[in-house]
Amino acid sequence: MKIIRSIRKMQQVSRQIAADGKKIGLVPTMGYLHYGHLSLIKKARKFSDVVITTIFVNPTQFGPNDDLNKYPRDEKGDIKKVFDAGGDIVFIPKADHIYPKNYQTYVNVEKITKTFEGTSRPGHFKGVTTIVSKLFNITRPDVAVFGLKDYQQAMVIKTMTSDLDYPVKIIVAPTVREKDGLAMSSRNKYFTTEQRQKAVCLYKALKVAKGEVKKGELDTGKIKRIMRRKIVEICPSAKIDYIAFTDFLSLKPVNKISKDCICSLAARLFGVRLIDNMKMK
Ligand code: AMP
Repeated sequence: MKIIRSIRKMQQVSRQIAADGKKIGLVPTMGYLHYGHLSLIKKARKFSDVVITTIFVNPTQFGPNDDLNKYPRDEKGDIKKVFDAGGDIVFIPKADHIYPKNYQTYVNVEKITKTFEGTSRPGHFKGVTTIVSKLFNITRPDVAVFGLKDYQQAMVIKTMTSDLDYPVKIIVAPTVREKDGLAMSSRNKYFTTEQRQKAVCLYKALKVAKGEVKKGELDTGKIKRIMRRKIVEICPSAKIDYIAFTDFLSLKPVNKISKDCICSLAARLFGVRLIDNMKMK
């Protein structure tokens, strides 16, 4: 069990692990860990000998109106959780080491970052691909695990990994939910008890959509209307950002539900922006 804060040290340790013939699994996170994150560590464990979890609240993926400064942090608690979950190394770099003065290099995936989260959060994915790319270079993983909860992010990272020939297998792990269905998220902490109960509206809307598809409804326009009604019924003040039905791999919007269709949505609830998604078939 190791805590590493220096980039140089992390690179040395990774090189040594590889030289010993061991496989490295990487789980990048922004900390304030919950069971969703821990499920990724457990998944990484299955595919590797040494699991490196990174904790880094990455400033370049936050927009000027995002919650960078108030993003929850609990380094001590996180370290304990990682080791309890079977992680081997926690890498916690400093922001000014990752982005020193005069830093000017970014990684950008073109097409699939231009929709949905990319439209709502300009520059977000550029920050994500830049940090993941740097973490790949620092930790040299054989596999890296990401959550389906951030579905578009997972697809963007898969694209980057393939396009830049990183020898890294990307694994996408299922979304871990609270008992009532709300997707676990570090941002759920922002809600009061009453608000938290209403935050389940996104999950409920996705369930309603899936129920419609089961009944034979294939028109995504109709399903979207039903979903909007459900969200507003549970949380009248919700500000829906988008509800999208897309092909799972290409992220191209679909008008009719098909085999590989996923529904993604984003909404601002009580000032907190949440996203969720569900495969429809
Ligand atoms: P974050 O700390 O929010 O940047 O998330 C780090 C990783 O955990 C990303 O790959 C997320 O997709 C994943 N993740 C976040 N929430 C969940 C969840 N509820 N279930 C599974 N994975 C998650």
